[in-house]
Amino acid sequence: MGRHLPTSGGLRKTLALAAEQGCETLQVFVSNPQGWAEPVPRADAEAFAGGMEELGISPGVAHAKYLINLASPREDLRENSVRALAAELVAAGGLGLDLVVVHAGSHGGEGEKKGLDRLVEGLERARELAGDSGRAAEAVVENSVGAGTQLCSTFEALGEVSRRAGARVCVDTAHAFVAGYDLAIPGGPGYVAAELRAALGEAVALLHLNDAKNESGSHRDGHRKVGEGMIPEDSWKELFAALPGVPLVMETPYETPEADAEEVRRVKELAGGLRKTVDEG
Ligand SMILES: [Zn+2]
Ligand SMILES: [Zn+2]
Repeated sequence: MGRHLPTSGGLRKTLALAAEQGCETLQVFVSNPQGWAEPVPRADAEAFAGGMEELGISPGVAHAKYLINLASPREDLRENSVRALAAELVAAGGLGLDLVVVHAGSHGGEGEKKGLDRLVEGLERARELAGDSGRAAEAVVENSVGAGTQLCSTFEALGEVSRRAGARVCVDTAHAFVAGYDLAIPGGPGYVAAELRAALGEAVALLHLNDAKNESGSHRDGHRKVGEGMIPEDSWKELFAALPGVPLVMETPYETPEADAEEVRRVKELAGGLRKTVDEG
């Protein structure tokens, strides 16, 4: 259990926050997620990798740029996306991070089939490009809310990409909920977990643990803190029980470090087991 953390104060600060909050996993950006500028090599990369190991943080995760759309109908955007993802895989690997979460993207009106073909091809090309560097992180594909022409709002579509590209996936619980996987109804979490296992088997690398701002089926994104959105606390307990051992990363808004630490603690409690308590950290 961990959360997305800022890197703005330097990576040493990021590690300090992770320790303070009792994080067992963490997620960061390795470049500006809103721009195409590639990640810059960091002098503190080795220290960060060592620090994560010391704290027992695993997996370490990077979230790829939001601009990346491997499925775009525009060739120039696909090229930029492949190059950007490859650069992030290399940069994340250099920081000792294990996974890079990339959005499934949008087919842009050319249909789901063509979009999925392009996504699979883009993943393969990005990995190939990054592979030459010898130390790349693993690309995992995130489910969408299914707005407009977005791909992979269903576990079936995510499963198809996973099988064809040989890639594991990240399932965002808020995205799944608004895409129609209703975790709020009685029996919902068990059913959704079973659907997930049926479509993806062991290919679920990670959950993005976010509560949803909007109703199930609304296809409208928006994260809330766990327990403060549409999904009741009992549902979370049921979901965690049905998916034992799957790493969790929260992407809820930052508050004070104390409030963020409390949120991590509360979710660990809901998950019914603490691998590492804040006191030990
Ligand atoms: Zn995401
Ligand atoms: Zn997410």
